[in-house]
Amino acid sequence: MSRIADNMQGVHARIADAAEKVSRDVQTISLLAVSKTFDAQAVLAAAQAGQREFGENYLQESLEKIDELARLQNNGDMPAGVDASLLKWHFIGPIQSNKTRPLAEHFDWVHSVDREKIAQRLSEQRPPQLPPLNICIQVNISGEDSKSGVAPADVAALARTIAGLPRLRLRGLMAIPRAADAFEAQRVPFRALHMLYLQLQKEGLPLDTLSIGMSADLEAAIAEGATIVRIGSAIFGQRNQGRTQ
Ligand SMILES: *Cc1c(COP(=O)(O)O)cnc(C)c1O
Repeated sequence: MSRIADNMQGVHARIADAAEKVSRDVQTISLLAVSKTFDAQAVLAAAQAGQREFGENYLQESLEKIDELARLQNNGDMPAGVDASLLKWHFIGPIQSNKTRPLAEHFDWVHSVDREKIAQRLSEQRPPQLPPLNICIQVNISGEDSKSGVAPADVAALARTIAGLPRLRLRGLMAIPRAADAFEAQRVPFRALHMLYLQLQKEGLPLDTLSIGMSADLEAAIAEGATIVRIGSAIFGQRNQGRTQ
């Protein structure tokens, strides 16, 4: 078994354990493999191990990777059992408003929408032959100046705007809280996001996705309702410093 397949098995076991501890059905939690800084071969190794959903942070890098996988597919160079056209791509990085078109054209999900202008452009630029683009709003849940994301108080208004845009499908909330080591400390910002999510649902917004939890804190995120965990280094290994957020 490849190292990546081996790591994936470990991550699936962590997800199952965490779900069991809080009596959640493991089927309600999906694994997003964050392949930023790793090449198309790493994506293929994960895909061979059954992974279908991939997360990327850097636009240019991700477009090259998606292109290369399509080229391998067209040349008949895919490993057995892998079909590049079945892979789903999630953009989870910061968005520049002049770079929305390739996101609208090449991705299935965008988790990092934090302003109306971006949402409007994504809706206008989503090609008509594709299904609506799945959207999560990134929330600055720890209130850090340096992190992107909309302030909790402004989430409801942005959610209503997105819900009304024709080529977007509002799915939920995403956050990257300030890092903490202890389980209970990790839970605090996730719990705040979960409460906000439940409040918005109560107000009638059709949310089904809470995108929280990374390699170091997926257990705390699952305890607080994560439906997508975004896992990079625990699957692919340590990234080179300098490219990470
Ligand atoms: C890099 C990244 C991840 C994955 O982080 P790991 O700690 O490597 O699991 C998840 N979400 C976002 C937004 C990221 O930028």
